[in-house]
Amino acid sequence: MKTFVEEFKDQAGRITRDLRHRGLIQTALRKYEVKRDEKKAAFQDWESARQTAAEIKWEAINKLDEHLEAFASKMEARGTKVHWASTGEQARDIIVKVVQEKKARSIIKSKAMTAEEIHLNDALEHAGFEVVESDLGEYIVQLRKEAPYHIVFPAMHLTRGEISELFTKELGSAPTDSPEELTMIARRALRHKYITADIGITGANFAIAETGMISITENEGNARLTAALPKTMITLVGIEKVLPRMEDLALFLPMLATAGAGQTITGYNTMYSGPRQPGESDGPEEYHVVLLDNRRTELLADPEQRDALHCIRCGACLNVCPIYRNVGGHTYGTTYSGPIGSVITPHLRGLQDWKHLSYASSLCGACTETCPVKINLHHHLLQNRRNSMQQEPNATEKLAFTAFGYVANSPFLWSLITKGARVLQKMHPLVKGGAMDPAKAWTQTRELPPVAKQSFKEFWKDRKP
Ligand code: SF4
Repeated sequence: MKTFVEEFKDQAGRITRDLRHRGLIQTALRKYEVKRDEKKAAFQDWESARQTAAEIKWEAINKLDEHLEAFASKMEARGTKVHWASTGEQARDIIVKVVQEKKARSIIKSKAMTAEEIHLNDALEHAGFEVVESDLGEYIVQLRKEAPYHIVFPAMHLTRGEISELFTKELGSAPTDSPEELTMIARRALRHKYITADIGITGANFAIAETGMISITENEGNARLTAALPKTMITLVGIEKVLPRMEDLALFLPMLATAGAGQTITGYNTMYSGPRQPGESDGPEEYHVVLLDNRRTELLADPEQRDALHCIRCGACLNVCPIYRNVGGHTYGTTYSGPIGSVITPHLRGLQDWKHLSYASSLCGACTETCPVKINLHHHLLQNRRNSMQQEPNATEKLAFTAFGYVANSPFLWSLITKGARVLQKMHPLVKGGAMDPAKAWTQTRELPPVAKQSFKEFWKDRKP
């Protein structure tokens, strides 16, 4: 069986050679960039908005224990059952138990990356329940038995033609190229599921400590139906989603919409504070909120990287990342892809198994520059690299860098080696691509850059006054 790093390399090589796929992603992301910049311009001062958002998230995470307790007690006061799950397994067990107690048969679910993180659908299906995704993109990837391709746009790797083919095969619809018709086909298929579902499961964009409310922001209205129609509602929320005050949403909702999808504000913004109260005409009879830790508190205990918990899952860092744009979302093999995925996956799933993601970066800093809550992403990638080496030093690399340090510190040796490299490079074509080629990993797909004909020292010596 292949290791995670081997899988990543194979997949990355395959996708980067697939020019059609790359073209599709890059066209979609260029359109996103244009819209995002338009909407950013609507902020009086985007940079100071970012600074304020970073400070609010700092406050939220720095006093996470207090905020979570306030959130839970307010929710419970209105009849919500709040569950604390330390691990993904615990969260799955809690949700499966609620579903079993309700003697449910079918479940409708809106988009929740936390559910992907703990493989909730698999657990529910294994326990004998039918789970249907209600977000259009999620529904499409569910029909394809795939993981979401992107945090915000789960089916962005597919063309209309591919979606039409899928619907024809799975839903028996007539082929069409019209996005409206494709949406209507999915809507018709889902409508029945909403009406018959016993349980609705949602994620959350924010959890408001001050008022004890869940905030969900979406474009299709599917999360509203998921929450409103079934008798029981379950929300799975990562503990880092806390915001201290209700008024913080005035900044975070437009900021998430702008950074995430180039929108002024998302289509539907809803707050949930508990089950249906006496005299209310809709809403679930029973409401469960599952607060998920799953190693987030370990990240919280790391003063250097704790700001990774500030993430609002807007996906903006994925959109600007030159690696993501070329290798695509599925290559990462993780729930969270792109720069934020490369930063947090080693914390969530083990540093040694996932350290390779921190090397899949040009360290250009585009992610850090775009992040609306100012997470220092590319520095965290460097810190992951350092931590992995400290945890499990690599003897060959250590020897190589010691030798490099020795040569680089000696002008005589440096000059000797660079002269030697010029001669050796002339002989390189004889071994290029073969087993004896020391630069094979590079020359398989690129030309070796020539060693400069003259070093700076030689140039300086030869220069005419
Ligand atoms: S790290 Fe920043 S840019 Fe990336 S998804 Fe999170 S909030 Fe968005």
